[in-house]
Amino acid sequence: MASQLDRKSQDTTTILLVEDNPADQRLIKEFLRGIDSPEYQVHAVDRLDIARTMLTDSPGSFDAILLDHNLGDGIGIDLIREMARDVTAPMVLLTGFDSREIDMAAMAAGASAFLSKQDVNAVSLDRTIRHAIERQRSAVELWEKCDELEESNVRLQKTTAQLEAESANIIKLAEHLAKAPDSSDISYLSSNNDSEATYRTVAQASRIGVWHIAPGGATLEINAPMREMLGLQETDVSEEQSFWHLFGSPDRAAARQALKVWSNGTTSSFEASAVLRGADVGTRMILSGCPLRAGDGKTTFIMVTAVDVTDRRHAEALVKDLAQRDPLTGLLNRSMYDEMLVSAMQNNDRNGTQLALFYLDLDGFKGVNDTLGHHVGDEILKRVSERLLEVTRNSDFVARLGGDEFTVVLNNLHAPNGAAKVAQSLLEAMHAPCVVEGKTVAIKPSIGIAMFPDDSRDPEQLKKDADLSLYRAKESGGDMYQFFDTAMREQDESRRSCKVDLTRAIDDESLKVAYQPQIDLDNNVIAGVEALIRWDRPGHGLCFPDSFLPVAEESGLIIPIGDWVLKRACEETVKRQKLTQSRIRLGVNLSARQLKQPELPSRIRNILNETGFAADMLELEITETAVIDDIDASARIIDSLRDLGVRISLDDFGTGYSSLSVLKRLSVDSLKIDRSFVNRICENPTDAAIAESTINLGARLGFRVVAEGVENPEQLELLREMGCHEAQGYFFSKPVFSDVLDVWLADYNDDLKDNLEVAS
Ligand code: C2E
Ligand code: CA
Ligand code: CA
Repeated sequence: MASQLDRKSQDTTTILLVEDNPADQRLIKEFLRGIDSPEYQVHAVDRLDIARTMLTDSPGSFDAILLDHNLGDGIGIDLIREMARDVTAPMVLLTGFDSREIDMAAMAAGASAFLSKQDVNAVSLDRTIRHAIERQRSAVELWEKCDELEESNVRLQKTTAQLEAESANIIKLAEHLAKAPDSSDISYLSSNNDSEATYRTVAQASRIGVWHIAPGGATLEINAPMREMLGLQETDVSEEQSFWHLFGSPDRAAARQALKVWSNGTTSSFEASAVLRGADVGTRMILSGCPLRAGDGKTTFIMVTAVDVTDRRHAEALVKDLAQRDPLTGLLNRSMYDEMLVSAMQNNDRNGTQLALFYLDLDGFKGVNDTLGHHVGDEILKRVSERLLEVTRNSDFVARLGGDEFTVVLNNLHAPNGAAKVAQSLLEAMHAPCVVEGKTVAIKPSIGIAMFPDDSRDPEQLKKDADLSLYRAKESGGDMYQFFDTAMREQDESRRSCKVDLTRAIDDESLKVAYQPQIDLDNNVIAGVEALIRWDRPGHGLCFPDSFLPVAEESGLIIPIGDWVLKRACEETVKRQKLTQSRIRLGVNLSARQLKQPELPSRIRNILNETGFAADMLELEITETAVIDDIDASARIIDSLRDLGVRISLDDFGTGYSSLSVLKRLSVDSLKIDRSFVNRICENPTDAAIAESTINLGARLGFRVVAEGVENPEQLELLREMGCHEAQGYFFSKPVFSDVLDVWLADYNDDLKDNLEVAS
């Protein structure tokens, strides 16, 4: 087990994927391949029996197991149930649409998590797997601690049993003495008797507390262990001191009651804590009382024996506590939170008050973990939990759900306003600098807030609402809070269905590539075409990239889609080049996520090889926003792309904040003046100035400059005067599909080009 845990902290996570649908298998592999930390190594198999053999032969070789529910040769849950005992790696079940019963059955069978296939994307996969591994690790630690505690508990139980047996013997002895015929009225025990002497020796020497009480409660005699348990000095013992005075308020009533029962002649036990003077916690003990009667049947005194169970109760409490708490931060854990949320909702419902559910996570935490190490990450999580506790009240509760995800439940609110105030204070508290190992780390939380009962009365829905709001807060830049609003559910639904459809788009052949020509302004010949994706989405008609690329990007689907566009565009352009005997350059857009993939260059090389496309005819268009968050890593990838011989173009130039510094760090071949400047180039002097200085910059630094979005001859004329090299826009052609492009190219070469030449 230790070796497995060790391996998990390293940066490669080995996954066994059991999935018989080739498309799903490929997609999941793609998603996981897109993640660089941890690096996922996926072993995919398509049959349950192969997985069973692998897991039986080497149960420790995987960090996590991802299982489809419906497999050709059986049901995923069955394997989970079979393996739950022997496999320590977490098992995650992939389920179909809205299959709550299956989800629950999977958890009951021993799955660590489930993930609906429609929710599968790079982010959700990574998150689910990492959290499952982490939870499993905490569970293992918990089991180990519980095992230790259980052992000591067993020991304590044995000791208690011995003590109880001993106490029973003493009671017997005392009973015997009390009933002795020569027992006198004066003394409650017979005096001057050998057996009494024996009794006294036993009682005094015993490890158990022995306490003789008069029926009225006055102390008659007390042995040393008993005194110790009660926290009394020898001199403290006075006859007047009533038995129950030695107990604190929660137990005093029980002590009184016990005395009554004993005085009436019945033997019984109760558990109580003696309150030591000056101490917070008293000894916890089990007191057994036995009324002893004289020959006349009257109770002469009550013999109380006491066994110290403090350690045992403490150990028990610890076991219970461990099962409810997150070991790292000491906050409530997920399962405790689930329970408490439900009862908190009921309480607020009864009181007619509102509850606010906060979901909180830390922007960029993964980066901190990756760059500064897990120990720094752990320390930050601890600080965050301290700050969460500082800002919230005792009636609220805070839990850690896993990773950098926390939740706060605020109770007894009268208006959402109260929640907004707490959210604001939370943000402020988090902004205080956090110094770990001499490094200052900025903590930027995002908070999503859902309100009970206004947003939902169902705990599961309320959690989803809080999560959606969190998502929105992050999407809007993070470091802020966001209340839920019902429109988010619809947007989420449309995003999901878009994602589901997009998952099938490659196999459905509903994706298409449109091309827009780029004209060389020196000689009016066609310099190249830019490939622009289109999606003929079933039931929705032709969709433009703005409507689906954000979903593709976020879900990671952009990786296979990007490959597809490149491959298809290369194939079609090679064909066209052969047909027209011309060298047409091909521009293809790359997204941020594609640029973060270290293996992007080798994938592009493969596509060039497969399609026979000449590398120097390919121009990859990248935007500043795609490279800006990790410009060094992007620069490395871009350099290796250029090593392949492909050209790089900086798209949307001038629209970002740091176009010039990006230009300084990256080696590119051309710049594209953004459409927004070209659009008003004739009317707006600022836009004209930006366009002109970009063109001059290109001339000075040796880049080609392409103007995009040229819609009329005036714009074209002005750009030509400014010395722009190439232009692209509706004035020449809208983006068109391959067959239309062929016709357009033929017409252009026959006709249009000459018209342009006449015009220029
Ligand atoms: P972009 O790279 O800036 O592409 C230029 C956009 O301007 C295209 O929009 C094009 O249709 C439009 N356009 C061209 N000339 C004119 C004009 O004269 N007037 C007007 N109003 N618009 C013009 P489109 O095709 O909707 O693409 C939008 C964006 O989606 C692209 O902006 C690009 O960033 C992204 N995109 C398109 N295809 C792909 C792709 O295959 N992969 C990636 N990663 N992104 C793509
Ligand atoms: Ca572009
Ligand atoms: Ca552009």
